[in-house]
Amino acid sequence: MSAPPQPQRLLVVEDEEHLAAGLKLNLELEGYVVDVATSARQASERLVRAEAYDALVLDVMLPDLDGFALCRKLRDAGNFVPVIMLTARSSAADRVKGLEAGADDYLAKPFELAELLARVRSALRRRAWERDAGGSGRAATLRFAEAEVDFEKHEVAVGGEARKVTRLELDLLRYFAENPLRVLSRHEILEKVWNIRNSNQTRTVDNFIARLRRHFEADASSPRHFLSVRGAGYKFIPNPE
Ligand code: CA
Repeated sequence: MSAPPQPQRLLVVEDEEHLAAGLKLNLELEGYVVDVATSARQASERLVRAEAYDALVLDVMLPDLDGFALCRKLRDAGNFVPVIMLTARSSAADRVKGLEAGADDYLAKPFELAELLARVRSALRRRAWERDAGGSGRAATLRFAEAEVDFEKHEVAVGGEARKVTRLELDLLRYFAENPLRVLSRHEILEKVWNIRNSNQTRTVDNFIARLRRHFEADASSPRHFLSVRGAGYKFIPNPE
């Protein structure tokens, strides 16, 4: 006999009360347990109990701190709960801004309820995969040079010392780990790692490569593992000669 599954807990962070109430109701109809915070401060207080929520639906426009800043604060504090950001804006630049702040997904207002529900399900599924090592068939760990990376536990050590690496950095590293020695174009990385299509935000990729080099290269200015391939993209070499 197995125990019935625990309901999944969501936190909706939205100051417009009608919208917040509507989201809460509809998410509860899907079987989730839903709390609402109407400011970033209220959200932070609830999130002090770090693992209490399975996902966040986070509005960008809040009365105190904006959603990007709140998300970044969470990630800096080592909280990697899935975050779906809601915003009135839908440009690729804003989407990238959300992702760089550490959001997992991004939905422009006004959105269809069905679309939000689909995004929530997919964020929770991904969360479950990450918890269930091996269940996803994806790379669970990576060792190269001085680095040890546990993708499921979100733990990174270099030379035996723990490093704080963001979710987005880890996503990119994992894609490299799954495609070693292959040249990956910036567009492929945007699309496959962060699900951004038809974007010219290729500089974002360069920024993330720079971050990986700072974390993992002995000398970030002459990389041996994360190589630039002129006019083509980047290549990951786990064990250079
Ligand atoms: Ca709002």
